Amino acid sequence: MKIAIDIDSTLHDYWAGLAAAARKRFGVDLPYDQQVTWGIDRLRPEQVRALVAETHRADNIRKATPYPGAVETVRAWYEAGHEIHVMSHRDAACHEPTAAWLDHIGLPYHALDCTEDKVAGAVALNIELLVDDSPDTLERALEEGMAVATLSHPWNRELCEVEGIVTAPDWATLAARLAPLLSGQRATS
Ligand SMILES: [Mg+2]
Repeated sequence: MKIAIDIDSTLHDYWAGLAAAARKRFGVDLPYDQQVTWGIDRLRPEQVRALVAETHRADNIRKATPYPGAVETVRAWYEAGHEIHVMSHRDAACHEPTAAWLDHIGLPYHALDCTEDKVAGAVALNIELLVDDSPDTLERALEEGMAVATLSHPWNRELCEVEGIVTAPDWATLAARLAPLLSGQRATS
């Protein structure tokens, strides 16, 4: 099966780094539990952009620690013959440090795409399963007929009640819940 996997808030705890940067740079708290929408209304758009740029600097990309079980799960999928596409909305300039990070954490994959329109890219690649935390991305991928899955976060909790989205609090549970879908299937390219 062709699987696309997001990075931020899917492979690692992006929010913690973003919130720390917001506190340090702007003195603004961004409590994870209260982030029930995708937008960040405590900051102006240009402040959010500055924080995203900071968290996506090569040195900060390098520091990220994967969620427990994330690397092991993706490696198991890879070794079972699935085609792994790591797909992120990170800037194209983040490609190289992101590839270095994936090597550093030992996550095997077939392709890495830093793309502005992930769903369009996934459609073009005939992705069959997309793992992502963004409500908009999940919804659009569903509309395109992909299977979709996510770690549950406050900002996607409402959407996760929608039938057809596989959701889990952690990677071990996500792996177990996706096992029926992935069992017996192989890369289809
Ligand atoms: Mg994400």
